Parts: sequence; structure tokens; C-alpha cells
Amino acid sequence: MYNESALQIAQKFKSGQVSATEITSYFLKRISSGDHKIGSFLSCLEERALQKAKELDQKRAEGKPLGKLAGVPIGIKDNIHVKDEVTTCASKFLSNYIAPYDSTVTKLIEAEDGIILGKHNLDEFAMGSTNENSAFFPTKNPWNENIVAGGSSGGSAASVAAGFTKISLGTDTGGSIRLPAAFCGCVGFKPSFGRVSRYGLVAFGSSLDQIGPLATSVEDAALMMEVIGKHCSKDSTSLNLAPQPYISELKNSVQSKTVGVPFHLIDQLPSEARSHFEQNIELMKKMGLNIIDINLDVLKYSVPVYYIIAPAEASTNLARFDGVLYSNRAKNCETIDDVYQNSRSEGFGPEVKQRILLGTYVLSAKAQDAYYKKAQQVRTLIINAMKKAFNSCDVIATPTAPYSAFDRNSIQDPLSLYLQDIYTIPANLAGLPSISIPTGFTSDDRPFGMQLMGPKHEDARLLRFAHHIEKNVSLSPKMSPHFDKENLA
Ligand code: GLN
Repeated sequence: MYNESALQIAQKFKSGQVSATEITSYFLKRISSGDHKIGSFLSCLEERALQKAKELDQKRAEGKPLGKLAGVPIGIKDNIHVKDEVTTCASKFLSNYIAPYDSTVTKLIEAEDGIILGKHNLDEFAMGSTNENSAFFPTKNPWNENIVAGGSSGGSAASVAAGFTKISLGTDTGGSIRLPAAFCGCVGFKPSFGRVSRYGLVAFGSSLDQIGPLATSVEDAALMMEVIGKHCSKDSTSLNLAPQPYISELKNSVQSKTVGVPFHLIDQLPSEARSHFEQNIELMKKMGLNIIDINLDVLKYSVPVYYIIAPAEASTNLARFDGVLYSNRAKNCETIDDVYQNSRSEGFGPEVKQRILLGTYVLSAKAQDAYYKKAQQVRTLIINAMKKAFNSCDVIATPTAPYSAFDRNSIQDPLSLYLQDIYTIPANLAGLPSISIPTGFTSDDRPFGMQLMGPKHEDARLLRFAHHIEKNVSLSPKMSPHFDKENLA
């Protein structure tokens, strides 16, 4: 069952070939016998999942209509609320925090009969690119346990790659869905800003954050978008647009359409990544797509712009974690200042502290004009350049990252990690839909991904391109061979 798609599993359940309880028990067993090697879950919601499965079996027996995700095993990144369950954001600060309400995406998934199996590991508060910033334990890559899973939605990506869940939700502020998808050999889709409700997501960068699916195929990502790609009145940034026909749109052709490639951004790639990407370009030409060179020189500023805006927004969003209202309070405090200071010092990990300091500095009266304001101005240039690029092409293709997944604990310098986000950040700054699809392996069997970006709000169009391109350039199965045995123990 682990190698079937979410769509196939839902069909099997609906047609009576398998019960929801059987599906759920099967995947729960895979998790309990395999996840100790990977660490993709922070909590497994066994009881909730089996209860939901029982209800679904009952519903089917009574001939009631079944939802789009009926019987599909799903995982949720642990910065998204599932009512009455712990939301830790992989931070010591929230290790006991019980979500008092459901996020909109959780509600939508359960209303369409998806079965939530658990909450996924992440970099603390979604800050990072490796999952090594989780305060609890790092997620390992199912393809090779010595390499990173990517981040910050590394738990979601690793779970899908190991066949523990069929679709998992991640969040993407600067690449956190697409990068781990590329590192773990699965599909990761970041919708347009505002396409998916963020109600019930613990905010990191409010002008950048977006929830989206990780799956083993574009079709399954489209299935999840049919469920969660809806306007939500509880999120003031939610787009009030009609939902798109994500799945039926996949059938339309992409023949003779144009793919823009910013070749000047590819030139400095390490040679293996470069020749791999060039091979993808040849495959896209063969399938009848026109490839054109586009100039996006201004994107050289996207990393510095992001690492000013994202920490600025994070520093304000994380101000609420003060040991008073939410979260763990430091012991033995004498004054209210002690409560704030000690709780924050004890509760946050080093990367989060670094971002709060950076964000507070760029927003301070003296530095604001030189950094924050300037970054917002350059962001506008980036938005305009991307908009202009789509006058001459339908989608833009780049590698997802300059490197494939690297060895765990091999990068200590935060700047080189930040540079890893060079290709993914522009879509967040400009609010564009963007997807990473798996396209093969390095000579030492590490997955490679290719990124596609579409014009603003053209999510369904982008998925269509990705679906056709996936069929022609995906050179690999999307599940790790280490996890392909029925019995993982
Ligand atoms: N790697 C980026 C960062 O550390 C992206 C994080 C994200 O998208 N949540 O901020």
C-alpha cells in the first residue's frame, strides 16, 4: 500500500477493497516500526487516527457520501494546529502547548475524510534548511540516514519519502516545502501567497508564509489543493478567489508552451548539479516545450532581502512567546523582566535567538531605513522583475537548490546555509506559486529536484506544467528503497 498514490488509496477504500481501519493500522505500523530511524514525527496521533478510521468505515457501511481524501493517511507539520493535540513548533518553548482550536487546513482535511496520523518534525519555528534546528531531534533523510532531510518541513518530506504518510502538509516561508522535497526525492508545492488559509499556523514571516502539500506525485499535490485551496474568512490575507480545478486542469496539454530559464543564475552551479539541470532542459525540449533565456539579475539580492524581512517579521511574531500567556515559564523569577528574559533565554534555540536579534536590529529606529526599508524597496523590484518575466514565458524553471542533500552536521556556518535558499526565496518574496519535482540522483544516490514557478495566482496552471514535466524528467521512483519493505522492523 505504501507505494500507491493517495488517489489510488482513496479509490480502493471507496470501492470497498480495503477498510479505513486496515489502511490506518498499516501506516501506523510502518511508522512505529520505521520512524525511530528517521525521526519524521514529533507525535503520532494513533487514537485520533483509529477513531476517524472507525467513523469512516461506519460511514461507508451506511452508504453515506465519502470525501475526496477518504482513507488517505496524512501528516501535519507541527507548527499547524490540530485541536486538542500538542503543537510544539519543534521548540522547547511550546513542548506542552495544546492547540485550543483547529487550523482551517485541519478542518478542511478532516471534512474531506483524510486521516491525520501525526505531527511532523521541523526546524524550530520553521527557521532552517536542514531540520537540525529542531529542539528535539533532527529528521534524517530516508534515502541515506547520514544526510540531512532538508528543512524546515523535513519531517513532512521524510515521512512521504519513507511511505509513512501519502500526503503531508508543510509550510514555506523561503523554501521550506520545496527544499526538503528536493532533498528527499518527493514533490513539494508552495501555493500562491493567500491561496491556502494560514489560520491556525504559528506565524514566522507573515508576508511570506504559505501552507502546502508534499506528496509522491503532482497529482496527489493537486488532490490536496482541491481540499485546502479555499478562501477563509478567518485569515485576513486569504485570497477571495474561486477555487481552481486543480485535478482536471492536469489533463490539458502544455505542447509548444514556453519555459523561461535564468541561465545566468545557473552558471555558478557545482558541475554535477549543473549538468543534471541541463539534462532536464534537454528532456523538456524533447517533450515539445520551448526553452528561452530570461534575465532576472535582480534575484541576486533575494537572499539578503529575505534575511532582513523574514527575521524582522519573525521578531514581532515571536514577541508573544514571553512565558506569560503561552509557553513555558522560567522558574525562580523575581521580577516580570526576569520572566521575559529567562523564559526566552531558556526556551528558544540559537538559530531562533539569532533571527530575533537580527530582526529587532533591522527594525530599530536607527537601522530601519538602511535595512528594512531598503529591503522592502528591493523586494518591489524583485516582484516587478518576476511579473515582467512572465510576459515572455509560461513558467520559470531553476534547480530547487544549488546542492543535493549534504552530510548531517557538515555545515556550521549559517551564511552558507542561507545561500542554499537562492532559488526558492524569490517565489516567497513575490507571492508566486512554486513547486519542486524530483528529477533523479547524484552519482552517490542523493535526490535532485527541479523547481518551477508560475505567475501569481496561476496555481492550477503551474501544477499542470509540473505534472507533464514530472512524467518526462522524473527519473526515479519517489520512495526510498530502504523503506520499501512491508515489514520495517
Ligand atoms: N531556509 C529558510 C529559513 O531558514 C526558509 C525557511 C522556511 O521556508 N520556513 O528561513
